[in-house]
Amino acid sequence: MLKGKTAVVTGASRGIGAAIAEKLAENGADIAVVYYGIESEALDVQQRIEGSYGVRCKVYSCNVADGNLCKETVAAIISDFGGVDILVNDAGITRDNLLLTMPEEDFEAVVDVNLKGAFNMIKACGKNFLRKKYGKIINIASVSGLHGIAGQANYSASKAGVIALTKVCAKEMGSKNICCNAIAPGFIETDMTKDLNLGDDFIKTVPLRRLGQPQDVANLALFLASPASDYITGEVIRIDGGLAM
Ligand code: NAP
Repeated sequence: MLKGKTAVVTGASRGIGAAIAEKLAENGADIAVVYYGIESEALDVQQRIEGSYGVRCKVYSCNVADGNLCKETVAAIISDFGGVDILVNDAGITRDNLLLTMPEEDFEAVVDVNLKGAFNMIKACGKNFLRKKYGKIINIASVSGLHGIAGQANYSASKAGVIALTKVCAKEMGSKNICCNAIAPGFIETDMTKDLNLGDDFIKTVPLRRLGQPQDVANLALFLASPASDYITGEVIRIDGGLAM
């Protein structure tokens, strides 16, 4: 389905990003794994992808909050793979706290990675997409950005920003055959959520009565990366077992 396409996936060293990278690879895409901190995790993903799917895969360390680094990284990816067809902005962090006690630097850090990171990567890939007259941009937002969650002023604001950024991007680039959509996951079991104490009753608030898995999000990302979604742009799709409806 994606043979001959190159996908850049940020935050692909683990969790949701790793599952998306593997799913796109399983469907034939060559993969640029972008991570920031832990090289061994990124190399594990690369090994799994190359070993299982016979596509090309390379890893790139890049702090997406830094616009110049994003430009350099995308230039290296284009030089290695010849171009970019799919961009998945998955890199994200949390620094939860009540609004009144949240340090300013924690607000900035989360907005810088989650929102500015997506902006930086879209900008860095933009000319390439315009030249190709083709692009699939998938931004990982959150139900937190749709409804706001107490204790997440920084995170909710960043993800609401990602949703607005998605719509602007869809409007500005649609005429060039570039689609931009957002995925808004609910609670997905990853490193990001492993230390949250949800309480025994949480699961009863999820109509589907289970927590989400990275695979669930990866299946949706595959749809948005594939020709099956060619007439969808500017959309925000919740994937939360019905939690936030
Ligand atoms: P995770 O397991 O903590 O993984 C986060 C990924 O982001 C890692 O690969 C990490 O790489 C990368 N990253 C962090 N800071 C970065 C930076 N400055 N530059 C580049 N990469 C960076 O998180 P996850 O749960 O898979 O979440 C993935 C995305 O889904 C995030 O955008 C998150 O907000 C969103 N989301 C998650 C949930 C959930 O319930 N898990 C729900 C809604 C939305 P390094 O560690 O190598 O830096």
